Amino acid sequence: MKTKLQSLLAVAALALIPAAHAADGHVHVKKVAGPNGGLVITAVEPHCELLVTPERKLKITFLGDDGKPAALKEQSLTGTGGDRSKPTKFTFTRVGESLVSAQVLPAGDSIPLILQIKTSPDAKPVSKRIALNLGHCPGCNLAEYACTCDAHQH
Ligand SMILES: [Zn+2]
Repeated sequence: MKTKLQSLLAVAALALIPAAHAADGHVHVKKVAGPNGGLVITAVEPHCELLVTPERKLKITFLGDDGKPAALKEQSLTGTGGDRSKPTKFTFTRVGESLVSAQVLPAGDSIPLILQIKTSPDAKPVSKRIALNLGHCPGCNLAEYACTCDAHQH
């Protein structure tokens, strides 16, 4: 009886190993800036880069597997940003291989933003919330919203 119990415990212990292993298999990916120095959004495949243009418009560029700008396909998006009581609605039109907002960002350096990205006309939109901080990070020399510093505290 004792032997049988021991072998049962041994089997139970073995069964626990894969679970422990999976928990340990977490992969840390270093933050990488987009090809234009913008924020890479990984909530959609392919990934896309969000960049605020000098005119304060939003510019979205979809990226290839190599992280470089790719040709725009059937992707589309809308956005909402700024003060919740008086939000700015963003609509995007194609400019070259990117989608650029018709509207400019509301005033301020810290703008909450929600993007609704569709990877194809029939796809369910993917929501992405971004705290768009337009300040400049001296650590990586990028805008704060695209900051790639490892230990950045905000
Ligand atoms: Zn930084």
